[in-house]
Amino acid sequence: MDDTNKVIILGSGSAGLTAAIYAARAQLDPLVIAGAMRGGQLTQTTDVENFPGFPDGIQGPELMEFMRRQAERFEVDFIDEDATAVDLRKQPFEITAAGRPLQARSVIIATGAASNWLGLPNEQRLIGHGVSSCAPCDAFFFKEKEVAVVGGGDSAMEEALFLTKFATRVTIIHRRDQFRASKIMVERALRHGKIKVLWDTVVEDVVGNGKVEGITLRNVKTHARQDLRVDGLFVAIGHTPNTTLFRGQIELDEEGYIVLKDQTMTSVKGVFAAGDVHDHRYRQAVTAAGWGCMAAMDAEKYLEGP
Ligand code: NAP
Repeated sequence: MDDTNKVIILGSGSAGLTAAIYAARAQLDPLVIAGAMRGGQLTQTTDVENFPGFPDGIQGPELMEFMRRQAERFEVDFIDEDATAVDLRKQPFEITAAGRPLQARSVIIATGAASNWLGLPNEQRLIGHGVSSCAPCDAFFFKEKEVAVVGGGDSAMEEALFLTKFATRVTIIHRRDQFRASKIMVERALRHGKIKVLWDTVVEDVVGNGKVEGITLRNVKTHARQDLRVDGLFVAIGHTPNTTLFRGQIELDEEGYIVLKDQTMTSVKGVFAAGDVHDHRYRQAVTAAGWGCMAAMDAEKYLEGP
């Protein structure tokens, strides 16, 4: 009996689960390798207020649970473990998960990206309680409050500018005396009346009991320490795409993101990518879901043949 899958989906965030729903409804009997930490980045957030269809907002983990249940309704199979190896050089493709090799005629990679964190002693404990890596998701909760943004790239500038719509003061904290962001973004940020910059400064810790109350800072040149009272800490020091498994097998850009060649198709025919694993521009749950839908439709067309 041929037990080659028509499609294997790697990842169970918004992109992977949407791809699963679409692939299942196209009768491709998808198998999802959901990962040991199933559910993707949304499982690390609290209130999600920008996903259409939930007028009162929804908790991130609950939204992912709904997507999973929707996929299960169409009898999608799940393996709640990480894929440990892939071979995309042969057809059918081979994915190893839960200690066994699995074959597939097409693969949708939706393994996402992870925000880089500072590694502060109290950072992880306060994520979702004032510590965030996504201003478009969380800025709304900082109306009339004071926040800090860490980083000196375009993301930090963009987050800081976005936050000025809500917060009364935004302090950008950068470890050097120069930003790496594009000139236009730097000018916009420096010109803004609500934005202040602390140069040559690193965050040593974030403090708060249940929610962020402040941060402790150190000037790397003078070694002077200071406390800054803030209600939120936005960490914008880049993301790392989860592509280690695919290195050397499909084309990645210099930052490790998957390069798309033809709609959602990667450099390997039959292998598709969806969501933050290739998209470092939008990075939203709703855009990742859109990419998941597109990848499933592209896989369906590919499997039908020319
Ligand atoms: P990035 O350009 O790599 O910048 C990361 C920033 O974080 C750098 O300033 C870096 O400092 C700082 N940083 C890194 N690790 C740190 C640490 N441990 N502690 C303190 N600071 C740390 O990342 P990004 O801003 O996310 O941008 C990624 C890419 O997306 C870029 O190509 C960017 O142009 C693009 N992007 C574009 C837009 C736009 O066009 N609207 C918006 C967002 C992102 P150093 O400078 O000292 O290394």
